[in-house]
Amino acid sequence: MPKRSRTIDWQELQGRIIGLGEESLKKSHYPELQERLRELERFRALFDLSSDIVLILDIAAERIADWNRTAQDALGHAAPPPLSAIGAEEVLAFLREDHSGCAQRPEMCSRTIVTAFRRADGSRFPVEIAVSLRAGDAERLAIAVGRDITERMRTEQRLRQAAAVFDNAVEGIMVLDAARDIVAVSPAFVQVTGYAADEVVGRPVAVMRSLRHGDAFYAALWAAVEQTGQWQGEMWSLRKSGEALPMWMAIGTVRDDAGAPAQYVCVFSDISRLKESERRLEHLTHHDPLTQLPNRLMLGAALERALTRARRTGRALALLFIDIDRFKTINDTLGHQTGDLLLQALASRIANSVRAADLVAHMSGDEFAVLLEDVSSADDAARVARKVVQACTEPFDLDGFEAFVTLSIGITLFPEHGQSVTALLRNCDSAVHHAKSEGGNRFRIYTRELTKIAFKNLRIETSLRRAIDAGEIELFYQPQFRLADDALCGAEALARWRHPKRGIIPPDAFIPRAEKTGLIVPMGEHLLFDACRRVKTWLDAGLAAVPVAVNISGVQITSSPIVETVAAALADSGLPPELLKLEITESFAMRGTQGSIDRLHALRTLGVELAIDDFGTGYASLAYLRDLPVTIIKIDREFVHNVPDHRGDCAIIEAIVAMAHGLGLMVVAEGVETEAQKAFLARSGCDIMQGYLGGHPAPHREFERRLPRRTGPRG
Ligand code: C2E
Ligand code: CA
Ligand code: CA
Repeated sequence: MPKRSRTIDWQELQGRIIGLGEESLKKSHYPELQERLRELERFRALFDLSSDIVLILDIAAERIADWNRTAQDALGHAAPPPLSAIGAEEVLAFLREDHSGCAQRPEMCSRTIVTAFRRADGSRFPVEIAVSLRAGDAERLAIAVGRDITERMRTEQRLRQAAAVFDNAVEGIMVLDAARDIVAVSPAFVQVTGYAADEVVGRPVAVMRSLRHGDAFYAALWAAVEQTGQWQGEMWSLRKSGEALPMWMAIGTVRDDAGAPAQYVCVFSDISRLKESERRLEHLTHHDPLTQLPNRLMLGAALERALTRARRTGRALALLFIDIDRFKTINDTLGHQTGDLLLQALASRIANSVRAADLVAHMSGDEFAVLLEDVSSADDAARVARKVVQACTEPFDLDGFEAFVTLSIGITLFPEHGQSVTALLRNCDSAVHHAKSEGGNRFRIYTRELTKIAFKNLRIETSLRRAIDAGEIELFYQPQFRLADDALCGAEALARWRHPKRGIIPPDAFIPRAEKTGLIVPMGEHLLFDACRRVKTWLDAGLAAVPVAVNISGVQITSSPIVETVAAALADSGLPPELLKLEITESFAMRGTQGSIDRLHALRTLGVELAIDDFGTGYASLAYLRDLPVTIIKIDREFVHNVPDHRGDCAIIEAIVAMAHGLGLMVVAEGVETEAQKAFLARSGCDIMQGYLGGHPAPHREFERRLPRRTGPRG
C-alpha cells in the first residue's frame, strides 16, 4: 500500500509558493529551488488552461487526487470526489485490473474509455477519456485526460439521422458540388428517375434537363440560389427513359467555412400523379363527360381567342349551333342510355364532317357547336352546315335500334352578327331557335329580325303575366255534335286573350310562350276552374248537361300537381266528374314517361275522361294508346281537311275509326267545315264532329244560347 505522503498536494504546494511572496522568491538565494517552483507554476497553469479534463487518479484510494479547472467545472464538485461519485465504473474497472505486466507491455498501461460522468447535480455527460498508468508509478497514480463529447455525439447523431433521411426519404435527394456536378444521389432518386447512382454521379446535373424549360429558366433558378441560398418550385426533368418527370424541387446551399457554396442539396418529389389529376380535373372542367368534346366553357374561351385573332387578321369567323330535333321524344321513348348513344354517335359524325382545325363542342344536352375560323363568307358556314346535315341522313344504329334524326342549325358570323362572345352566342341561339320554330331539319343564319322576335317574345311574356292576373284570359266554347243524330253533345273550351287594346288574341300567339315560361301552369289552373264552374252554372240553370273538354298542356302534367288541381276544380265547382274531359296531345302522350302515365291513370280514377288530341300528327300507334287510360281520340283536322277527295286520307280515317272502335274508344273528328266532310265521317262510323260547320268557338253567353233546356233529370 503506497503512503499518502507520496502524493503531490498541489494546493499545498501552491500555497507555499504564494506564501513565499514574489519578492522573496526573486531575492532567493536558492536559484535552483526558484527555478523548480517556476517550472511547477508553469506546469500548473498549463494544467488548468487545458480545455481537456485532466484527472490525477489515486489508484489505491479510487479517488481523484487532483484535477484541473476544466475537470472541476465539468463535474461541478467543490473538492475532488471519489471515483464512484462520478459514476466512472469503466475507469474504476480498468484501474482494478492487474497491471503487473505493464512495464513489459506498455499497451496494457493505457486505455481510452468512452463513458458518462455524473455531475454533482446528478446530471450526466458523455466523455471520452484516456487513462494511463505511468510506468514507474503504476501502483499509485494514473493520469486521465479526456473531454466532454456531448457536442461530438450530437453531431454524430445528426449525421446518422441525416444519413437515414437520405436513405429513406420518399423525396429524391441529389447532392451537387459547387460546379453543379452530381456527387451523391439517394435511393429514392434512383427509384424515381430510373438512373443508377453510378450513371449520374460525377456528371453535370444538366443531364436531367427537360426541353420544357429554356436556358433562361435555369439561369433564373441558379441566380436565385446564388442570391438567397435556396430555390423551390415546380420544374420538369427527365427520367432515364426519356419520359418527362414533373417535380417539386427544393434546392439548398451548403457553405464552406469561408461562406462560399460548397455543395447544393436538391430535394424533389415526383408530382406526376398530381399533374395527372390536375390534368384530369382540367379536362373535366373543360369537356363534356359523355362525348369527351370541349364543353361550353371551353368553347367560350376558344371563341374569345378566335375573336382576338380575327380582329388582328381581319378575317371572319362563324359559329354554328346544332340541335337535334325532337331529342326529348327519342330520349323519353327509347330511354336515356339510348339517347346517350345517339349523342356520342352524333358527336363523332359532326367531328368527322368538319376540318381538324375547327372546334366541335358539346354545349349541353342535345346541343353542339362548331367554331369555324378563317371563313370568307356566310356560304362557307352554310356549306359546313349542309355537310353536318348530310352526315346525319344515314340512320344511327343505337344498340340495334335504328334511329333517324334531323337537326336544326343556327349560324352567326363575326363581325356581321356580333362583336363579343356573348352577342355571338346569344344570336346563334336565336338562329337555332328560329330553325326549330320553322319545323326543324334546316339551318338558319342569324338576322337582326331575330333579335326583334326575341324582344317581342319578352314583351309577350311580361304582358301575359299581367293578363293572367287581370283575368284577361278567358274561354270560348266550340260545340260538338253527335254524327248519328246531329245532337249537340259537348263543347271544347278554347283559350282566348281579350287584350284591352289589341282585341281577341288566338291561343297560338301565347300558349307556346306560356308553356316555355311555365306561365301555362297558373293559367291552365285558372281556365280549368273557370270551365268547371261554367258548366255547373249551366246545369244549375236547367240547361242540358254537356261535357266540356279542356286542353291540358304536357307542361302541366309533368311540372304541376295536375291530379290535385283537377280534383280541386271539381270540388270547387261541384261539377260531376263525368262532365269534364281533358285533352292531351298525341305527341305528349307518346313521350309520356312512367311518371306522367301514372298521373293519367290517377286522373282517370277521379272519373274524368281523357282524350288524345291531334291524333295522327305524332307517331302514336293505337296499340300504344291501348295501354293509356284514354277513352276518346280526336282525329287531327289536317286529315279531315282533305276528305272525301284525298283517297289516302280517307283510308287513314277509316282505319283509325275501325281500330279505335276495336279498342273501345270514341272518335271525334276536328275541323269539319263542309257537308261533304261531315257525310264522309258519318259514313266512316266516326262518332262526333267538331268544326266551323257546326259552330265557331264563341264566348260562353253565345254558346249558352245553343244549349237546349234539360228535359230529363239531367240532359
Ligand atoms: P286544338 O286543341 O286542336 O283546338 C282546336 C283548334 O281548331 C282551335 O283553334 C279551333 O278554333 C280550331 N277549329 C275549330 N274548328 C275548326 C275548323 O272547322 N277549321 C279550322 N281550320 N280550325 C278549326 P284555337 O282555338 O286557335 O286553338 C289552337 C290550339 O291552341 C288548340 O288546338 C290547342 O292546342 C291550344 N289551346 C287552345 N286553348 C287552350 C288551353 O286552354 N290550354 C291549352 N293548353 N292549349 C290550348
Ligand atoms: Ca283540343
Ligand atoms: Ca286538335
